[in-house]
Amino acid sequence: MISIHSSTANGSLQHEAHARNPRQALQAGGSPSAPPCPSPEAITGKSYISWSQVSSYQLCPKAFEFKYVLRAEPAMVSSSLVFGTAFHDAVARVSQADLEGAPRPSTEELASGVAQQLRASSVPLQLAKGESLESLDALASRMLSAYLASPESHVQGTSICIEDVVRGVVHPSVPLVEARVDHVYQRTEGSLIVRDVKTTRTKWSDEKVSESCPQLQLYAMLLDRELDGVGKVESLEFLTVTKAAKPVVRLHQVPVAKDGSRNMVDQLQQVWHGIESGVFPARPGWPCKSCPFNDRCPAAIKPAGASGEP
Ligand code: SF4
Repeated sequence: MISIHSSTANGSLQHEAHARNPRQALQAGGSPSAPPCPSPEAITGKSYISWSQVSSYQLCPKAFEFKYVLRAEPAMVSSSLVFGTAFHDAVARVSQADLEGAPRPSTEELASGVAQQLRASSVPLQLAKGESLESLDALASRMLSAYLASPESHVQGTSICIEDVVRGVVHPSVPLVEARVDHVYQRTEGSLIVRDVKTTRTKWSDEKVSESCPQLQLYAMLLDRELDGVGKVESLEFLTVTKAAKPVVRLHQVPVAKDGSRNMVDQLQQVWHGIESGVFPARPGWPCKSCPFNDRCPAAIKPAGASGEP
């Protein structure tokens, strides 16, 4: 669960944040007066749903069923998934060092952590065409070097939390929702900013930013309750780093829209309705080629027939 830190932008530790007992609402699963919400425990074994579950269902409900309902053993894990997680961990190490006022880890130290995670997977790693562990090592070095050199790697404010988990009630018609938050920081005037880090093959368009906003709108809603007494979330940020020969680090900032949560709540309601109704149709397409269940899914499109990832 969320632990609150506070540091200046240049990293010196200042004080514990003055949150008004922010854990209370979480432990109760929302405000004590909140109406009860449904539990997915009988279906997924968990008392909450996460945004990654929502995304998984939206991509292919059948794959969701394999992973979260049947809890089937994956035949493999895609290299991009492991790489993305390892890159996030490296970025969190940098933010943590800034928070503690410690020297930042070097590109070599961070890339070595990524290399270790790529080799530690207990499930066979599925490499993309033309990819090797060595090429991924080199990619990690280039991306981390670009990240460390970018002004965007320094937040303009005081870090509040890094890589934390928050849960809460979003709407009484959907279960408790869990969010994994990359970074929250506070500007000098008091507003809070939620930052999410993404690795991506291509630069993000404005359209891509807009379609990704419901995830951060959800985080903003949960954090506003969790950090009541600290501040309000007023801006959302996606920090993207491209997987390229010359990686580009870019910050996409979006103000929190007053009615922005409507789309997010709609998506949660639609997905939860499908899950509780046991509706898990296969949605074959480009995700099949990296789907860890394509060896047993009758609808799987084999690589030769799959269309390219958009
Ligand atoms: S192989 Fe394709 S259709 Fe089947 S579960 Fe995976 S993504 Fe869905």
